[in-house]
Amino acid sequence: MDAAQPQQSPGDPAPGVAGTADLSKATTEEAAPLPEAVAPAEPYRAEQPSPFATTSPVDGSPLSPVEATPLAAVPEIVARARSAQKTWGELPVRDRVDAVAKVKKRILARAEEIADVLHKECGKPIEEAALAEVLPNADLVDYWTETIEELLEGVTVEPDPLAYPGKLGRIYKDPRGVIALITPWNYPVAIPLRTIVPALLAGNTIVFKPSEVSPRAGALVASLFKDAVPEGVLELVQGAGDAAQAILDAGVDAVVFTGSVATGRRVAVACAERLIPCSMELGGKDAAIVLADCRLERTARGLVWGAFTNAGQNCASIERVYVERPIAEKLVARVVELTKELRPGVDTAVITTQRQAAIVRRHLAEAVARGAQVLAGGEPEAGSLAFPPTVVKVTDEDCALLKEETFGPLLPIVVVDTADEAIARANASRFGLTTSVWTRKIRRGRDVARRLRSGVVTINNHGFTAALAAAPWTGTGDSGYGITNSPHALSELTRPRFVLEDTSGAKRELWWYPYTPALRAVAFTMARARGGAGFLGRIGAFFKLLAVLPRRLFGA
Ligand code: NDP
Repeated sequence: MDAAQPQQSPGDPAPGVAGTADLSKATTEEAAPLPEAVAPAEPYRAEQPSPFATTSPVDGSPLSPVEATPLAAVPEIVARARSAQKTWGELPVRDRVDAVAKVKKRILARAEEIADVLHKECGKPIEEAALAEVLPNADLVDYWTETIEELLEGVTVEPDPLAYPGKLGRIYKDPRGVIALITPWNYPVAIPLRTIVPALLAGNTIVFKPSEVSPRAGALVASLFKDAVPEGVLELVQGAGDAAQAILDAGVDAVVFTGSVATGRRVAVACAERLIPCSMELGGKDAAIVLADCRLERTARGLVWGAFTNAGQNCASIERVYVERPIAEKLVARVVELTKELRPGVDTAVITTQRQAAIVRRHLAEAVARGAQVLAGGEPEAGSLAFPPTVVKVTDEDCALLKEETFGPLLPIVVVDTADEAIARANASRFGLTTSVWTRKIRRGRDVARRLRSGVVTINNHGFTAALAAAPWTGTGDSGYGITNSPHALSELTRPRFVLEDTSGAKRELWWYPYTPALRAVAFTMARARGGAGFLGRIGAFFKLLAVLPRRLFGA
């Protein structure tokens, strides 16, 4: 970070931008007050020499130094991406495919290095890092390089020849231009790649700002593309929230944001002021609905993984279980048993930041104060980031643990009487990212899935579908409206361009001047021909049109 620049917290109100409203005012004064759970993140203190952590959350060992990008350099970086976009966007898609395809081999060849960075910088178990952030990324490159040519192919539009003679249209998918990519720290390799790969293939260039918590993972992602794509096609900006602001201020064409609701709101306001589209992948409070007919062992194991993978620092972590009463006792007992087998900080990640650990402690303490029963785990020693996976039976649901995103290894379980009750509770959340349903009867699972207000529903599994490049990842409510993965993601990364070709030899169109009584008669005849009259009336109108239309189009 440029020492001369005022440093700003990722969660602080963004500074006012010349010519635009002050973003902090837009969110905190004009809008309704935000609930506590969406309050800004811990302020980044100006006395800190750099926004980046210098020691590993795993064991406090030193991490390699990272240089922040001076804010003053950001406009030039964005300009470089803009200039590169002109040539990159005009390349044949095949050439872009050839360039990006190289990244697959690099991801696989550097698997151990990637897992090591994720372990040291974010505290993930090596196995988890490799399984969640290496292998699916190789599949991701395959998926997009194999499908992009077809997905970008133009679509032909053939208008009704009677009403629109001689006309043929084609819809093309053009790149948006320069995309700002702002990403969080919890999956700092997989999340950026999910946008970078299709966005570049579609002809965009990217200015990528990783989280200040995971700058080394961010640098590693950028290095995967080094010399595979021309200079300027993927630019890296290292820094905190002010660096992301500087990218927006420099003028980009779209923003793809993944992160918290609070920051997402600010970024969405900033995009609205600049009239640029944004994609918002935000937080979650995923529910798992366990029906009495579930397969007990599979369900218990699925819940334990779904809640504790990455120590619950996962937007799609299971943060609420609603279990039907007849199976509740057995299920809870098995979940507790399996949870107690996990070694905190070894089988489960450590919490990546002290700030996050403080939120987890607060949610747990408040729930316990309201009578929740801790069945496994519980708070670690003061200062420890190895938070034990914790199972809590909750009866008083009016607590942050069941309402706000915890983003930690807490698994609250609530016993319900019916599936309807479970569905109503799952849907009552302001979040709606993913929900799982656990039942032996797939048809019953499907019925429940249809009634859930959730971007993704999994039956007898949870959360892993972000790894499926062909499956859309999206949310409802405060989980945002972004879409990654699948052809649907291209609607965020491209814009349609419609080109109409008119080969009609007519002197004029039906709807051009002059307006005459004859034209009026033609219009009403068309209304009859298109369904405004009965069968015979329609036939009559059709023949009348054949007689009068040529006169209208070609006559003097
Ligand atoms: P944050 O919202 O704190 O940060 C996200 C990104 O925004 C970071 O790069 C951050 O930079 C940046 N940022 C901070 N302030 C600003 C600002 N004023 N303007 C622009 N950008 C800014 O989220 P976290 O990193 O803490 O990530 C956790 C959140 O992400 C959770 O809520 C989780 O649910 C969500 N998430 C959602 C996913 C989904 O697919 N829906 C997937 C993964 C996570 P810096 O870190 O440097 O402050």
